[in-house]
Amino acid sequence: MSNKKRNVVYSTDSAFEKRCPRCGSYPCRCPKPKSVPPAEQTACIRREKKGRGGKQVTVIMELQLTPDDLKALGKTLKQKCGTGGAIKEGNIEIQGDHREKIAEELQKLGYKTKFVGG
Ligand SMILES: [Zn+2]
Repeated sequence: MSNKKRNVVYSTDSAFEKRCPRCGSYPCRCPKPKSVPPAEQTACIRREKKGRGGKQVTVIMELQLTPDDLKALGKTLKQKCGTGGAIKEGNIEIQGDHREKIAEELQKLGYKTKFVGG
């Protein structure tokens, strides 16, 4: 590393330094992330086995939803299936094999659905 000073293009103005790298504004003026409308999404539904006992879970993947919407949808599906579940890495996991029920509920909400995996 040389000690030669770089051409300093940033001022020390704090508002400038806090500017959002995406929109260049402070405060940030980026549009809030929005969920893609259900009709424009295809939810991939996969059955997986978890843990030693091989407990089945139904995983709903590829949803383009904000964390809040994802959580709300997960809650709805848990209620419809009468089972537990969780949100993991942007996917909804529902305990048990509920692929048919979940596909039905998602389709009612306007999503396209696709079964993937085994
Ligand atoms: Zn921004």
